[in-house]
Amino acid sequence: MKKLIVCACALISVSCTQKVLVSGSYELCPEPRSVELSEGSLVFRPGKVSEKLDTTLGKGLEPFQKEECYSIEVGKRGVVLSAASQTGLLRARQTLEKALPPRLEKGEVATLPYARVFDYPEFAYRAFMLDCARHFFPVETVKEVIDIMALHQLNYFHWHLTEDQGWRIEISKYPRLTEVGSIRAGDPVPGKEGHDEVQRGGFYTKDDVREIVAYAASKGIEVIPEIDLPGHMLAALASYPELGCTGGPYEVACQWGVLDDVLCAGKEGTLQFVKDVLEEVMDLFPSKYIHIGGDECPKVRWEKCPDCQAKKRALGLKADGHKTREELLQSWFMDQVSAFIEAHGRRCIAWNDPLVDWSNDVVGAPSKNTVIAGWMRPVSSEIAVKEGYDAVICPCGHLYLSAWEGNILKGEAYLRRVFDLNVHPETLSAEEQERVLGVEACLWTERVSERDSLLWRMLPRMSAVSELQWSDPERRDFEAFLPRLSRMQDIYSERGWTWNMAAELPE
Ligand SMILES: [Zn+2]
Repeated sequence: MKKLIVCACALISVSCTQKVLVSGSYELCPEPRSVELSEGSLVFRPGKVSEKLDTTLGKGLEPFQKEECYSIEVGKRGVVLSAASQTGLLRARQTLEKALPPRLEKGEVATLPYARVFDYPEFAYRAFMLDCARHFFPVETVKEVIDIMALHQLNYFHWHLTEDQGWRIEISKYPRLTEVGSIRAGDPVPGKEGHDEVQRGGFYTKDDVREIVAYAASKGIEVIPEIDLPGHMLAALASYPELGCTGGPYEVACQWGVLDDVLCAGKEGTLQFVKDVLEEVMDLFPSKYIHIGGDECPKVRWEKCPDCQAKKRALGLKADGHKTREELLQSWFMDQVSAFIEAHGRRCIAWNDPLVDWSNDVVGAPSKNTVIAGWMRPVSSEIAVKEGYDAVICPCGHLYLSAWEGNILKGEAYLRRVFDLNVHPETLSAEEQERVLGVEACLWTERVSERDSLLWRMLPRMSAVSELQWSDPERRDFEAFLPRLSRMQDIYSERGWTWNMAAELPE
């Protein structure tokens, strides 16, 4: 891979001192829509950057594209950033910052080629999900992840905060969620029964959450909290056993996978618990979206639970085609939750499980206003759209950056798994395509407990993710992507971010 950028251009005399000019570049990820270069370059001085709001910019674009649309003009008199909104100006600043040389040695000055950059995103929803429940990451690491997102012009941070293996957010009304639910006795040891004896824990206080929400907002990123329900709730059950079908006792999970004990859908107290938690969550997060999980909820406890069975009878749920009565009970439960969230003026996102399964069969009918995150297969989000839902594309085979054993790819194949995903499937009409809100990459952390291995999984694949989310799909070309990637790798290195071209697990 050739390094295109950062070459000493010429020696000139600036302020009576010999200076070396180092040229910046607009070869970036995500690739801007349009870059028109002209002859010459500007010796860059921060004081020579001016900004202007121009509401006519991006006329004719979709509203969200106009909101984030910007232009950068680099000419003899300096740099002018223009946008139709403050968010657009922020995106312009983010692009300008990374267009400058990643580093300058003593005696070097930055230059920028004369150019007009005009840019706007392909999708309104450009997200990254971090699982802070399987392993807890300190506030500083979460902020670093947000920095990486900002560099790639993402706008939603999906924060996975609750799991079988740990509850990570302070809830005043239910203190045991963090006193008990945030700590587990150990982690599984690969190839062996049981777990190690290293206690793992950690949670975010309300002040931590406010700090992260504000930090993300300063970078044009909204934080979407996820309270995963009714499955993946063992940490909550361990804290409050009356929330489960059997009443426990339960322990915070020390193994991975899908576990049978879930929230009881029949007991009134369970729904009240969920509403109380979400009330505090919505107080902390001003986000438009609230993620309510809905994935991987086994029904074995519900099938034997007198409360769940009584609830099914009371609701008159009848098996219907592929939909079992327990699946309909999950739909009912999630509908109660989404109605509560919508009554607060927010919108729910759920994983595709309550709607469509691994066989691509439609198994339920979540509330129509729920956004469906299609994680199982590339076709899951297409099915959601065909069923009349708004959808997010996040298929695990392409956009789960977790990298686990058995999923090892190297070099280009590793990147192409992300880059080659078709986010504009031909099976969707133009009208249906509009219901695809965007694209999300997810990082699950069963096997990630350290900052370095976390960043190492994100990078450099976030460059490819960002092109799916932002750049012009008509121009998608892997060979043309590689020089831009090389430039981004320089930036990663300069910022102290570990990156790797293979998906093998580091020791
Ligand atoms: Zn039950």
